[in-house]
Amino acid sequence: MLTTIAANAYDVALENFDTAADAMQLSDDVREMIKYPERILTVSVPVRMDNGHIHRFEAYRVQHSSVRGPAKGGIRYHPQVTLDEVKALATWMTWKCAVVNIPFGGAKGGVTCNPKVMSQDELQRMTRRYTSAILPLIGPERDIPAPDVYTNPQTMAWIMDTYSMTKGYAIPGVVTGKPISLGGSLGRNEATGRGVFYTIQCACDHLKIPLKGATVAVQGFGNAGSIAAQLLHEAGAKVVAVSDSTGCVYNKNGLDIPELIHMKELVGHVEGFPESEPISPAELLALKVDILVPAALENTVREDNARSLDVKIVAEAANGPLTPAADRILEAKGTFVIPDILCNAGGVTVSYFEWVQDEQHLFWEAQDVYNRLERVMKTSFRDVLKIHLDKRVPMRIAANILGIGRVAEAVQIRGIYP
Ligand code: NAD
Repeated sequence: MLTTIAANAYDVALENFDTAADAMQLSDDVREMIKYPERILTVSVPVRMDNGHIHRFEAYRVQHSSVRGPAKGGIRYHPQVTLDEVKALATWMTWKCAVVNIPFGGAKGGVTCNPKVMSQDELQRMTRRYTSAILPLIGPERDIPAPDVYTNPQTMAWIMDTYSMTKGYAIPGVVTGKPISLGGSLGRNEATGRGVFYTIQCACDHLKIPLKGATVAVQGFGNAGSIAAQLLHEAGAKVVAVSDSTGCVYNKNGLDIPELIHMKELVGHVEGFPESEPISPAELLALKVDILVPAALENTVREDNARSLDVKIVAEAANGPLTPAADRILEAKGTFVIPDILCNAGGVTVSYFEWVQDEQHLFWEAQDVYNRLERVMKTSFRDVLKIHLDKRVPMRIAANILGIGRVAEAVQIRGIYP
């Protein structure tokens, strides 16, 4: 429903890089070293479907950077997955890991498929075959996948098992976002939404907007969007609208988010939620609310619809939801944007904690994970805000300056290209 993929996400990633690199006066040599993906793998994934026939899926793994450590990034199952999308997502992962200062580079994977029409057995066969195909690239010291859109802890368990079978022993550290019983971290499942929440708290403090009573609309009610909505609801904010791929629901007095999460778990969609009225995706984006949380896919706010937004804060739980043209329009309107590579970095931060716990075979309590995550997110927000205020650049450019700057420094100190 709604949101056609208008702009090419990789073009957006490159344009954002160039804007920040210009603002930093980054040399052409350094740009050449860090801008483009290091490795790109395209694979065919033949799968026997439940009807007995073989279907071939196209799939990718892109490692954008390993300058600061192993490459790290999620795996997406979606019909609109393309190589350019995966390259964009891998590029953003590099800057994101650097913004929150964790020792990883960026990667991403994707399979062009429609998991909604596939059985669990088909998904398992596809995941295992895809894992075999990207096996030469992944490993706890080289490239560590995690969940993204329409993949989950079960997907990670299948990847971990397939990888471990080739080695002959269990290697939990090859993926993060695993089930707890396989070496997953407490707090990983809710980490992205929780990180989004912490950055919204920081933005509200900065803008002097009381979070209690603030109105919120959330586009995309999956892992990132629903947890962010839940925490905002618990903090006293009024989440008035929520959407998923099937529809949008609205209640001007605020939706009962715990009940909505419960219903989504039971029936798989938000449409038809009691005490709500249906609205269109365009109406959701045009609501006058304090905070908009895009938590679905790329390019949902573009040149053609950005003017309809009437919000004080956009918190990018999704990767790449705003095109550069939308950025310029919102900048002129004075909207405060918490950019994706900061806003949704809670997921990869707790993935890092999970990897550390797996390596050490020593597991932390949930509160310990939350405290560390809060520290990382709030420190990173302050670092980005400082650049935003000192250099008078938009928050997205400030975050890119921080992330790109750290990667540029690392590549030069390593002397990779003497
Ligand atoms: P998910 O699969 O759990 O949820 C995606 C949600 O978006 C679903 O509710 C789906 O119905 C909805 N959706 C899809 N198309 C939509 C549309 N056109 N309009 C409205 N809703 C739509 O995925 P997720 O993990 O929550 O990822 C969402 C976004 O957050 C993605 O951009 C992803 O890259 C980003 N992200 C996720 C993580 C993570 O740890 N899961 C980390 C960082 C960033």
